[in-house]
Amino acid sequence: MAKKKKGACSFCGRPEADTKILVSGIDSQICNFCIEQANLILKEESSESDDIQVDHSALLKPIEIKEFLDTYVIGQEDAKKVLSVAVYNHYKRIAQESDENDVEIEKSNIILVGETGTGKTLLAKTISRMLHVPFAIADATVLTEAGYVGEDVESILTRLLQAADYNVAAAEKGIIFIDEIDKIARKSDNPSITRDVSGEGVQQALLKLLEGTAVNVPPQGGRKHPDQKMISVNTKNILFVAGGAFHGIDRIIASRLRTNVVGYSFSGVNADQVDKKNLLQYIAPSDLKNFGLIPEIVGRLPVLTYLDPLDKTALKRILTEPKNALTKQFEKLFAMDNIELSFDDSALDFIVDKSDEFKLGARGLRSIIESILVDAMFELPSKKRTKKLVVDKKYAEDKFGKASLAKLRAAV
Ligand code: ADP
Repeated sequence: MAKKKKGACSFCGRPEADTKILVSGIDSQICNFCIEQANLILKEESSESDDIQVDHSALLKPIEIKEFLDTYVIGQEDAKKVLSVAVYNHYKRIAQESDENDVEIEKSNIILVGETGTGKTLLAKTISRMLHVPFAIADATVLTEAGYVGEDVESILTRLLQAADYNVAAAEKGIIFIDEIDKIARKSDNPSITRDVSGEGVQQALLKLLEGTAVNVPPQGGRKHPDQKMISVNTKNILFVAGGAFHGIDRIIASRLRTNVVGYSFSGVNADQVDKKNLLQYIAPSDLKNFGLIPEIVGRLPVLTYLDPLDKTALKRILTEPKNALTKQFEKLFAMDNIELSFDDSALDFIVDKSDEFKLGARGLRSIIESILVDAMFELPSKKRTKKLVVDKKYAEDKFGKASLAKLRAAV
C-alpha cells in the first residue's frame, strides 16, 4: 500500500493538497479526515467488541491480579490466590483458541464456599471490574426447570446480555456469578423418581450452561415465547463463578477427614494438625457431592476454594482499608457539603462490635454507619457553620438507637 499518491480522496473528494496524508488502496484512496471519521464510526458501532479481543501478552499475571483484588478485598488470601490463577488461565485459554492447537484447555469455572457476607460476590465483581468484562449476578434460588413457575436458567444469560448492552460478543466473554448454588442441592441422597423442582432438575439445566453451548436467550427475559426473537449466546467462554454458604458442610468435611486420617490416606493432614475451627479450608469436591450437588456440576466447577469467616479485625479493616471502604465513601459524601467527616478509632470498634453482636458480618457495617449518620446527613447540609464532624464512640452510641435494629435486620 503506497502512502501517498497524487489525486483526491475517493470518499470526500478533497484534493491531496488539502490533506495531511492520502493513503492509497487498490483503486481508491482515503484522506486523513476520512480515516478519522471512519475510525469514529467504527468505535461507535463496535465500542466494546474492540476491547474483547484477548491478547495473551496483555493479560495481567496472577500476581498482578491478586494485587488488584487486594485493593478491594480484605483477607481471603487463599481464595484470592486460587481465583487469580483461575482467571489468568481462563483468559489464556480464550487467547489460545485461535491457534491450531490440538490440546484443548478446559474451562476453569470456579466455586467459592463461605458464609454469607464474606466477600464471594465482591471477589467475582472485582475480577470483572479489573477485566472490563460484562458481569451479571444470578440467584440460583429463583431458578427452576423449564415449565415450572420461576425463572428458566436462560434468564441468567439475559442479565449478562443486558450488562453487555446487548453486545453478544462481549457477553460471550463475560463473567456470571451464581449465588446460593448450595440451595439447589439435592435434598436427599436418593435421587427420587419425582423430580424436585428446586433441586436436581435445575442442576441439570445449569449444567448445559456451564459445559459451554449455544443457548437461545429471550432478550427481555421472561418465558420463552414462540413469537419472541431469541438471541443466540454461546457460553463456551463465559466464566462462571458459583458461590454458596453450604451450611453444615463442615460436618461432612469433618467426617471425611476422620475416616481418611484413620486410613492414612488424607493428603498431608493428620488428626492433630486439623484446624477444627475452620474446616472449610480442607474442602474437597467429594464434600460438595455429599452435600447434594450432582457429580457433573462439581466436575464443571473444577476450581474449588473457600472463604474465611470474618473476625472483628477483618471487619475493622473492611471499614477503612479497601479502595472504596465504607468510611471513605461517607467522608466523600460529607466533603461534597464541605464537611470534614472523620471516625474515631473507638467508633470503628463500636460499629464492628454491633455488627458482630447481631451476626450481621460485613453486610451489617453499612447499615450501622447509615443509622449513625442519618441525623447528620439530614441536618448538616443546611447548617452554614458546621465544618467538621468527628464520630466517636459516644456519638455512635447515642445515634445508634435500638429502634434502628429492626430496620437493620430487615435490610441485610
Ligand atoms: P457474599 O457474596 O459472600 O455473601 P458479599 O461479597 O456480597 O458477600 O459481601 C457483602 C458486602 O460486605 C460487600 O459489599 C463488601 O462491602 C463487604 N465485604 C464482605 N467481605 C469483604 C472482604 N473480605 N473485604 C472487603 N469487603 C468485604
